[in-house]
Amino acid sequence: MEVVVVAGRRYADPDILSLIRETGNLIDPRSAVITEARRLNAKYAALGSDGTDPMRRLALLASLRGLQVKKMDGQFAARDRRDAVLLPRHDGTSRVILYNPARPAGRIAFSIAHEIAHTFFPMTGAGARFRTICHPESREANEIERLCDFAASELLMPRDDFRGVVGREFGLAAVEHAAAHFGSSFESTAFRMATAHPGIAAAGVLVFRRRKQDEAAIRRAASQLQLFPGEVANIGPAAPRYRRQSFFASEACGPAHLVSWNKSFDDTSIIYGAAREGRILRGTEALPNSAAMAGRMEAMVSPFQRGATADFPDILFYWAA
Ligand SMILES: [Zn+2]
Repeated sequence: MEVVVVAGRRYADPDILSLIRETGNLIDPRSAVITEARRLNAKYAALGSDGTDPMRRLALLASLRGLQVKKMDGQFAARDRRDAVLLPRHDGTSRVILYNPARPAGRIAFSIAHEIAHTFFPMTGAGARFRTICHPESREANEIERLCDFAASELLMPRDDFRGVVGREFGLAAVEHAAAHFGSSFESTAFRMATAHPGIAAAGVLVFRRRKQDEAAIRRAASQLQLFPGEVANIGPAAPRYRRQSFFASEACGPAHLVSWNKSFDDTSIIYGAAREGRILRGTEALPNSAAMAGRMEAMVSPFQRGATADFPDILFYWAA
């Protein structure tokens, strides 16, 4: 498999490689998709549309990329768990984004923006690439899906508009207002609080679990000792903790600010308290990364749960230096 490294990140997807090489020079795919998204937003702005209704805005953005946005039919929608898909039309010329009206509005909007972003990749112009459905406990979506999410966030919540709407109130308390303005989901808006932040900020989802090797060790011990797994559930280092699932950082963040996949959060973090509270908790602490910089941490139970237990629900966090 061919791998190309640009700006410290590794890429192997053929669609991304073709984008990286499109101009003859190696270009960073993250800046390339953001540039495309901003170019599209600028085209939209030049049309002088009132831009108040997020779905109408998305339909117009899609049309500027030669895409139509249509509802899935009722029967199909009821069975389909995807929010939106990009389909080729029979004549092979223009394409259609089908969205599922049975899904929550904010997720539909984000997924339509995501499908528009797929058209920024040269090879996808020829055919359909179906949205990858990730198992909730799996590692992150593959690299092209992450790039499309990255661009979708810019399409749905343009950075400068987002900063204008949020003002100086960056944080979880401002998410609901911003989500209502942009027609985005609570979760994607919370992540945008980090990625649109002018300083050093991060956000993401934490899931309560053990590392895979600890799970396996406990299963082995349980079968040898003829115990039920519950009886050895909380021994020493194998105890479950809140671990990083998704992670989003502002442009000002460097590699030292990255919290690596599955990294656990310390027992003293406010996130453990947030799991028992129905409100946003705030505190001063460092993220578990090499920067070890103290900042303002905010945490709440995520409104979107991926099948977590009631005692240890998924947590949404926001942190700013
Ligand atoms: Zn996709």
